[in-house]
Order: sequence, then C-alpha cells, then structure tokens
Amino acid sequence: MGEKLCDCAEAMAEDVDAAVRAAQDAYDNGPWPRMTGYQRGRILERFADLVEEHAEELALLETLDNGKTYTQSKTIDVPGTAQHLRYFAGFCDKIEGKTIPCATEGFTAYTLREPIGVAGQIIPWNFPILMAGWKIAPALAAGCCIVLKVSWDALWLHTVASFGARLHPSQVQVSQYTPLTALRLGELALEAGVPPGVLNVLTGKGSECGDAITTHNLCDKIAFTGSTDVGKTIMAGASKNIKPVTLELGGNSPIVVCDDCNLEEAVKGAHEALFFNMGQACECGARLFVQEGIYDEFVKKSIELAKQRKVGDPFDESVAQGPLVSEKQVEKVMHYIELGQKEGAKLGYGGKRWGDKGFYLEPTVFYDVKDDMAIARDEIFGPVQVILKFKTMDEVIVRANATEYGLAAAVWAQSLDRMQAATRGIKAGTVWVNTHHIMDAAVPFGGYKQSGFGREHGAAILEHYTQASFYLMCSRVQEQPCSNPLPPAPLPNTQTKSVIVPLPKSKEQRSWVIM
Ligand code: NDP
Repeated sequence: MGEKLCDCAEAMAEDVDAAVRAAQDAYDNGPWPRMTGYQRGRILERFADLVEEHAEELALLETLDNGKTYTQSKTIDVPGTAQHLRYFAGFCDKIEGKTIPCATEGFTAYTLREPIGVAGQIIPWNFPILMAGWKIAPALAAGCCIVLKVSWDALWLHTVASFGARLHPSQVQVSQYTPLTALRLGELALEAGVPPGVLNVLTGKGSECGDAITTHNLCDKIAFTGSTDVGKTIMAGASKNIKPVTLELGGNSPIVVCDDCNLEEAVKGAHEALFFNMGQACECGARLFVQEGIYDEFVKKSIELAKQRKVGDPFDESVAQGPLVSEKQVEKVMHYIELGQKEGAKLGYGGKRWGDKGFYLEPTVFYDVKDDMAIARDEIFGPVQVILKFKTMDEVIVRANATEYGLAAAVWAQSLDRMQAATRGIKAGTVWVNTHHIMDAAVPFGGYKQSGFGREHGAAILEHYTQASFYLMCSRVQEQPCSNPLPPAPLPNTQTKSVIVPLPKSKEQRSWVIM
C-alpha cells in the first residue's frame, strides 16, 4: 500500500474540448436522446446487470484504488451503483410533461421535458464508483450525453482517456487518486449498448480538466461533488455562460445522542457514523453531541470500541479500517489531530499513524471538545471522532446549527418529542433517526447552506437533467384557423384523454408544432 498502482492519462483543456464535442455530436446527431424511453431503460437495465456480473472485479479495482475495505466495496459501493442504474432505468419512460389549461380560449398548452444536453460531471475520490453511478444514472435516463471527470491528483501528464481509448505507454503517467472504476464503468456502458460518445470519462486534474469542463461553452450543465471551496470555484466558472449547476459539497454533520437512547446501539451507531469509509464521507457523524447524563459512560464505551477497530490490509475480511486515500489526506488529518491536542481537547485513543508503510491512521477519539476548537469547526474527513457534551435539546439544536454546513444530521433517542425537536430543528438536508449513512436511490439527498443545492436521487434529480419546452397549440387548427372571434370553448372535461402526436425529431422541425 502507498505504492504506485498503475499509469493513467491526464486530460488537458484540448482533450476536454474533444470529449465535449464528441458528447455534443452524440447529442445532436446520435440515437441516445432520440430513442424511446423504453429503449433507453432496457440499455440501462443491461448496464446494471453488467455491473452486478462484474461486482468482484469492480470491488477489487475500487479497493486497490481507494483503500476502502474490499467488504465495503463489494457489499455497499458496487451494489449501490447497480441499484442506481436500475432505479433510473425505470424512470426512462416515465419522464412526463404537463398539459396546462390556458386562460386564452381556443388554445392548449403542454410541456415536454427534454434532456438538458451535455452534462459535465465532476466527482471526488471518496466513493469513486458510487459517485459515478449517482451522477451518470439520472443523466443517462434523461437522455443526456456526459463528460465525467474522476478524481485525479495529477503529479504528471498527458492525454485524453476517453473510455475505450487505448493509450500508448509513452502517453501515460502515474495517477494518485481514483480513476479506475469509472473508466471500467465506461467500458461496461459501451458493452450494455450505450452508444459511443454518450458517456466520456476523463482523468485529469481539477484545475485544468475540471475547469475546462466547467467553463466549456458546449457543456449545458455541471454537477459537482466535492469540497465547498471548489464548489464556489465551479459556480463562478459556470456563471461565465450561465450554466445551471448542482452542488453536493462538504459537511460537518452533528449527531445528537439523548440520554433516553438505547446506549449500546447509540455508541455503535455513532462509531460507524464516523469511522465508516475511514471517516472520508461528507455525511459522516463529525460532531457527536452527547447529553450530560450518559456522557461519561458513552465516552468510555466509544473509546473501547475504537480500540477494537481493526486496522490493516483492506482485503482482510476481519479488517474494518484500511488506509486513507493519499498521503495528502493523512497529513491533513494529522494536522487536525495536532490542533485538537494543542487546543485542549482530551485524546481518548489513537492520534498516530498506524504501521510503517501506506496511508494508515489509528482510529482516534477526542472528548471534552469545545465548539470553537478547529476539530469541531472544520470538516476533518478522516477517522477522528469528536465528542462534545450538551444539557438541553434547545441548547444542542442551536449548537448543531452553528456551522456553515447543512448536509446531514442524526438523533438517537426514544422519545418522539426529542426526535421531532431534532428533525425539525436541525437545518440539514437529511436527518437520520436512530441510524446513520442510510442512502436509497429513491430518497433525495443533498445539502442546506454551504453544503450545496439540488438533490441527488429520486425523481427530483431528473428536473436537473431535463428542461421544459412549452408548446402552445391552437385547438382548432383544421376547422377554424386561429383568428378572432374564436369559437366557443368546449365544455370542461375532467376525464383523462390521451392525444398521441408524433414528436418532432429535431429542433428545426419543431416549428410545425408551435403555432
Ligand atoms: P476537491 O473538492 O478538491 O475535489 C473534488 C473534485 O473536484 C475532484 O475531481 C477534483 O479534481 C475537482 N476539482 C478540483 N479543483 C477543481 C476546479 N478548479 N475546477 C473543477 N474541478 C476541480 O476535494 P479534494 O479531493 O481535494 O478533498 C479536499 C477536501 O474536500 C476533503 O478533505 C474533504 O474535506 C472535502 N471533500 C468532500 C467531499 C464530499 O463528498 N462532499 C468529497 C471529497 C472531498 P482532482 O482531485 O482530480 O484535482
């Protein structure tokens, strides 16, 4: 671990241009946006089947690339990706417009939800395959074409790696982060029947490749997951040609553990809420508020549990914690551990690197943390549990909300009053009750405040990959061309009647529908 795994290409601005133009051509002239939703759905179903058939290979790549445990890759990340593809496959033929009653007699209006065009998507390194699945499944379902950039902390070079491209060894160099599973997904998409040019996967660094996607004139939308700072840069870049953006950004999610909770369950739940994925999850339970009546016992049990967490080879089934993603991330987390000690938080366990090789850290527990300490204020993004004490629900809700983030939160309690106080009081896009991390393709996920806007998952996300065209028709085209005085309006009919009209195949042909 911590050694070079393989070589990978670096996409520069001109390569991004080639990829965006390929996507634009596939959108304007290719079959993907023109085929029926049913046909697209069949292809996405096949794509999901292929992900499941290649589950072991994808899980192996993901663990080699990212360091998360093979068990997690195999049981959570890869199946979650297939689930997303399958969920959105079902939506392909259910993206519907509306009929709109017009105030003007003799006219009928309806909307058609059209794909937004070419979607630029930029994803981070913490859940590489799952984030790719979250991004590409709804975009493909909507009929969009995609340029997807995976995380790639570039030290070196050189050329475009549109999936399927075969690079000469002289064109490639070492990559530090997590490009492998998204590249393999690209190949599986082709095998499933997604036409060439529809899904383009690029490996390149954010400041060059990511920026070129964000600011490209032919990119119609940007979807980004990553840090809040880069999210701000993306918004500014996208504003150059007024592209819509959706942002899933950082978090500093509070967990509120009330003294009427099931203590054993809450200790375990809060432990997994933080240490899952080595703490490298935007929704992880970063600030753990524990009520004073159970505080001492809770801290003691949390430290015991952290001591039992086995660190080591992520391919060993008994290991719960593999390495962090990179040396850079280890250094960032170590910096916060030092700050925590300097600012007076009590170190209950851990605090050091683990082993003499690779990017490993000990599971670390701080307690008696104060709200203004850096380890409570900032997003650490590592295996560092931060425990704070509270007295009353009113007090803890104010403290939980005292952050610029609002991605997620959790409450552990038995009383309905406390559950409701927390779910209603905490400003966050998701509030879990007596659980954490549960995600579902059908349930919207996204942030309040500087954790971003727009929602992943569920029907809501399709709004971001489609736009409504409005058609206004004269209802009596044949008998009475649209001229005044208009014939009497028909009596209102409240029963549903289907009118099937062949749709124009291209924007140029649309004029015969618009009256
Ligand atoms: P970043 O936000 O820097 O990176 C996320 C993605 O954005 C990567 O693909 C990155 O490319 C790309 N990117 C970086 N700069 C630009 C740019 N100017 N224009 C377009 N794209 C860009 O996250 P990091 O990986 O650096 O992690 C830093 C911190 O961010 C973490 O410690 C954590 O706190 C937070 N984070 C939050 C995540 C979340 O899920 N909300 C996920 C990951 C990190 P590349 O890396 O290839 O250069």
